[in-house]
Amino acid sequence: MPVRKFADEEIVMGRWPGSVLFYEVQVANYDDRTHLYTVKYKDGTELQLKENDMRSLSSFRFRKSSSSSGSPSRRSGSRSRSGSRSRSPGRPAKHKRRSSSQSREARNAKKNTTVEPNLISLKQYENNTNFYNGEPDITEVNYSLKILQHERIEPEVVHLQPRKEEKKMEKMYAEERIFETPKTVGRLYMKTKELEFGGRIGAFFMIFLLPATVFYLLLVCKQKDPSVLNFPPTLPAFDSLWETRVFGVFLLWFFLQALFYLLPIGKVVEGTPLSNGIRLAYRINGFYAFMLTTVALGLCLYFEMEFYYLYNHFLQFAISATVFSVILSIYLYGRSLKSSEEELSPGGNSGNIIYDFFMGRELNPRIGNFDLKYFCELRPGLIGWVVINLTMLLTEMKVHHQTMPSLSMILVCGFQLLYVVDALWNEEAILTTMDITHDGFGFMLAFGDLVWVPFLYSLQAFYLVNHPYEVSWPTASAILTLNFLGYYIFRGANSQKNAFRRNPKDPKLAHLKVIPTATGKNLLVSGWWGLVRHPNYLGDTLMALAWSLPCGFNHILPYFYVIYFIGLLIHREARDERQCKKKYGLAWEKYCQRVPYRIFPYIY
Ligand code: NDP
Repeated sequence: MPVRKFADEEIVMGRWPGSVLFYEVQVANYDDRTHLYTVKYKDGTELQLKENDMRSLSSFRFRKSSSSSGSPSRRSGSRSRSGSRSRSPGRPAKHKRRSSSQSREARNAKKNTTVEPNLISLKQYENNTNFYNGEPDITEVNYSLKILQHERIEPEVVHLQPRKEEKKMEKMYAEERIFETPKTVGRLYMKTKELEFGGRIGAFFMIFLLPATVFYLLLVCKQKDPSVLNFPPTLPAFDSLWETRVFGVFLLWFFLQALFYLLPIGKVVEGTPLSNGIRLAYRINGFYAFMLTTVALGLCLYFEMEFYYLYNHFLQFAISATVFSVILSIYLYGRSLKSSEEELSPGGNSGNIIYDFFMGRELNPRIGNFDLKYFCELRPGLIGWVVINLTMLLTEMKVHHQTMPSLSMILVCGFQLLYVVDALWNEEAILTTMDITHDGFGFMLAFGDLVWVPFLYSLQAFYLVNHPYEVSWPTASAILTLNFLGYYIFRGANSQKNAFRRNPKDPKLAHLKVIPTATGKNLLVSGWWGLVRHPNYLGDTLMALAWSLPCGFNHILPYFYVIYFIGLLIHREARDERQCKKKYGLAWEKYCQRVPYRIFPYIY
């Protein structure tokens, strides 16, 4: 059995692994089996060393240094060694020789920022003039500053970085390097392989099913008994469905909104980076457009223009909007054939004409600076929804000879007005939504924006005109509370994510926890986004319910919106989940583990 040379707790000099530097260490114990000493460095690092990497303190020699020790050229030669010491615990931050007083100042100044203790390694001089030449048999020692001053030996200050810390930092930097790697620019543009909405056949049927649903619901809603089971509803005469004048009014409305969009008012912001790294500019003036529309509506009311016309030709307006959205979709598909690969959307480039027509081939179709998708998302349809609600409110008063709209109508129109105004006020937030960042502009969005939203989302107000329902004040208060709770969650979640995506270093968000991802973007894992994976959908659903409740429980028709909306959001959530899994891989899975519920806490 070999005899151990150093006793427990003995102070000796230990070589830093992989280097020629020796530091003062204390022997913690000795393993008879492996013949390794566990030693503790002054910074607390514990390592196992072989006996021949350890020396007794007395075996080190100290020599006086002359004040003019070594020529500058030699010094620089010494400095060049620093590369080989990159793994040493005492790698100097700056390899700059200092006088002892400078060293002391520097050391004092750094006391709070460097890891204690600061080891001082001395280079052993050959013949008092030669610097350490890098050969392993030349000894380096550490020494206390007091001795150094006394002996007037010029030290090289070496700040010890604890081994564990160093490893941690190395790991962190390595991770950061990965995280901060920007998304690949100039990627290969692939054809869409995974088809959504039931693929080609699904898309084909949706093109007919969506308009049919709108007409069916509008027809049912106008009937005396608006039961959805009354199928088929009485169909109007075919030639009464189209009126050119109505189409003209629709076009006037569309181009008036386009004119408002073009006004050089409101700030211009950049959208999220596209796959080629480019960020498109968007003018944020939706709220101004809404204000101008309000003024225009006020003038119409002042000059006693008949809003009843819209109510009376409601179905014809829906048909005009549908025809327009079909023409627009054909145009969009046609122009997308001339677009470059990088302008195509990731989801609408399957090569199948029907599928791509439905999903939208081009991601951001623009005529000059006029962004067709961005414009249609929030202007003609969304503001049009408010105009339709106003029309329903005025019509209710007119047909029921009321001086005031009913409380139910006020609740429905008030809630939905808040929703639209909020969307326009926070217009910038739309730039980080799936519609803008992922979906192409085709029939799905064109029809959705111009027909589905204005004509079906106003179904509750339309329903109340023909089927009045009285709500009591206590019921109204409960519905109000529900709506505001939903709004609070919806707005909080959307604003939090939007602010985070725009500036992840926003000090206001510093308290939030994140999961880093390999794309450089982080995922929020606390705050609203730590509650469920889609808190904004949760808030939106609560609001949707609050919009239906003022219509009472006599029919399911006014609940169409909330039922459809839950289905839409569950489907949308699944789509987003797939995309996020692709984008973020393991990080997304980790997020899903941390936040297990998708939309409804403890339910789904
Ligand atoms: P989101 O605004 O929820 O956007 C989803 C994206 O958010 C993801 O793709 C991901 O994109 C990012 N994200 C997801 N999780 C996190 C996280 N933990 N931290 C940070 N970023 C995250 O989805 P939508 O575009 O579907 O919805 C936007 C709003 O519009 C919602 O409020 C929704 O309710 C509403 N809406 C309303 C509709 C209506 O008809 N009334 C229809 C559809 C939506 P990335 O990481 O790339 O940023």
